[in-house]
Amino acid sequence: MVIKGETLEEVARQLLIERGVTIRDIAELVMFLQEPYIMGLQIETCIENVEGVLTKREVQNAIITGIQLDILAEEKQMLYPLQQIVEEDEGLYGVDEIIALGIVNVYGSIGFTNYGYIDKVKPGILKKLNDHEGPSVNTFLDDIVGAIAASAASRLAHDNPDKSQITQ
Ligand code: MG
Repeated sequence: MVIKGETLEEVARQLLIERGVTIRDIAELVMFLQEPYIMGLQIETCIENVEGVLTKREVQNAIITGIQLDILAEEKQMLYPLQQIVEEDEGLYGVDEIIALGIVNVYGSIGFTNYGYIDKVKPGILKKLNDHEGPSVNTFLDDIVGAIAASAASRLAHDNPDKSQITQ
């Protein structure tokens, strides 16, 4: 994989694309989370909020770390027994969720609720990432994508307190 980006943000964004996740995919998750609470919510607004989350250094660090670990697992470069744990996305491992919570942490408590919910329901791109097909490993990526969406939804909720405070 050739990384052309120079800044941390550029590299993080490029890695997401390389791993099959677009900004729009994440924006659709934000729409899924916030549509019931914000009347007339537009996908463009969701995209803006995803873009906002991606400017945070904590988020960029989580993206490059998680994706690097997924790639190492794909290349079978990890130590025993971590190789098998990550490759098989073992349920009790939990470090993938911890990295994701580092993202959600930036945006307060609504972010945690949203993350837990979306991780359980797995709509859209999350389902695609979770349905392991072929040799690709997305153990860290699915949680990171869910956390970015949850954070963007939380950011959006904070911008629309009248509409979303009561129902969340
Ligand atoms: Mg995972």
